[in-house]
Amino acid sequence: MFSSIHDYLRRLDVRLTIYYTVLLLVLTGMVLVFIAYRMERTLLKQVDRMLQEELLELTGVGEHDGADFAHACESYAREVAPRMFYPVYFRVLTTAGAVYFQNFDSSQIALPSLTPRQPAFYTIALYEKPAHFRVYLRDHTLKDGTRYIIEMATPLKFLNAVLENYFENVMTLLPIMLLVSVVCGTLVSRKPRAIIKDVVATTNSINAQNLRQRLPVAAVRGDETRDLARAINAMMDRLEKAFTEIKYFTSDVSHELRTPLFSLKGAIEVALTEPRTGEEYHRVLHECMEQVNALIKMLNDLFLISRFELKNVDLELSDLNLSEVLDDLYGFFLPLAEEKRIQCAMERSDIVRIKADKTKIYQLMSNLIENGIKFTPEGGMVKMELSAGNGEATFMVSDNGPGIPEADVPYVFNRFYRVDKARSESGHRGSGLGLHICKKIVEVHGGSIAIAPNAARGVTFTVKLPAA
Ligand code: ADP
Repeated sequence: MFSSIHDYLRRLDVRLTIYYTVLLLVLTGMVLVFIAYRMERTLLKQVDRMLQEELLELTGVGEHDGADFAHACESYAREVAPRMFYPVYFRVLTTAGAVYFQNFDSSQIALPSLTPRQPAFYTIALYEKPAHFRVYLRDHTLKDGTRYIIEMATPLKFLNAVLENYFENVMTLLPIMLLVSVVCGTLVSRKPRAIIKDVVATTNSINAQNLRQRLPVAAVRGDETRDLARAINAMMDRLEKAFTEIKYFTSDVSHELRTPLFSLKGAIEVALTEPRTGEEYHRVLHECMEQVNALIKMLNDLFLISRFELKNVDLELSDLNLSEVLDDLYGFFLPLAEEKRIQCAMERSDIVRIKADKTKIYQLMSNLIENGIKFTPEGGMVKMELSAGNGEATFMVSDNGPGIPEADVPYVFNRFYRVDKARSESGHRGSGLGLHICKKIVEVHGGSIAIAPNAARGVTFTVKLPAA
């Protein structure tokens, strides 16, 4: 039940029905008035034509002299006397205004006395009580030159009766029209209301556990409700995707954090089982420190990723010579490579300029070089190449390590993705965030990154960045 009339009137379908009904009634009213106007005009024209013909009958086609005219008036008066439906009243006036002949009793018929006008061929309408008359006024000149003014009149009773009848019919039709408009309005407004109800019901049923729900999409193309349902469904798709990503992200993060935290806990627990020497404590603390550093690195990486996701990364762009960056990194990673007896080779142009965020580019290039050294077994080789051309800088890192299986290539840039084979062979357990960050850094600079197997059965990473 509706709490009040006010609430009822605010309902969409009720408002639409009211608008529809009012609109339909106004339009119908306008059409009916127009029809009445046209009807009156047409009937009046017919009356006018009749009066003209009557006048012609009185005056005849030929010319009269005085006696003939008086005779013509009398015989015409006799002829029209029995007419029931359009009775004709006529009056012949001299130019001085005196009545020469008339076929009615002035005391009974209130045909107003007209001041003879300039004789002309026109009609006038008299809508004065008690009777409405249509009057046609024209002058007539006899053979001897005498001029008369002839008034030919007929009451408009019949015409008025037709119009009254018409209005009576309209008044009978009006309630039917009203009923039809209300019924049609209700039917018309039913669909949008049903759709809105659907939207509300579906939206209410959606929560974090139930994001699969979608609105039914109408079959008719170009239907706005179909567009509405599709837009809402598309929004739901995006929300579901975002929610799913957040869910996976949270579970990935908690999973990834558990392993180092548990090994940290294990190391501390083992150390506490019995009294230890200072040297032993120092070793355990050192191990813990390494775990903590790995955790801090992972958290920093995650923080950076979330800023990338939120498009909240401020790039500090500057002119950068990538050759200098590569020289720096080469110098930095050489001891690490030598430690593993990995042969490092570098091939680069002297100047490769790009406009980029220096810190992020260092992170990108060092990640790729570090991976090359990390995953390549002892005695292997890693090659770095840098060149410029076609408006872009190209940086490549190739190694002859275990390579990346073709099936893993599409996923290797995903968050937390690790290729098990590579990991087990090298005994390395990384966070699986490095390549994901590399991809984000490259994208944010408008470049691209690709992986391909190389002739040495290792892998080659190719980064392309727009040249400055
Ligand atoms: P992490 O190195 O911390 O594990 P990355 O995102 O840098 O994370 O790398 C993701 C995975 O891709 C690695 O775990 C490894 O399996 C594989 N990978 C990356 N670089 C190489 C490489 N040069 N050779 C072989 N496998 C690699």
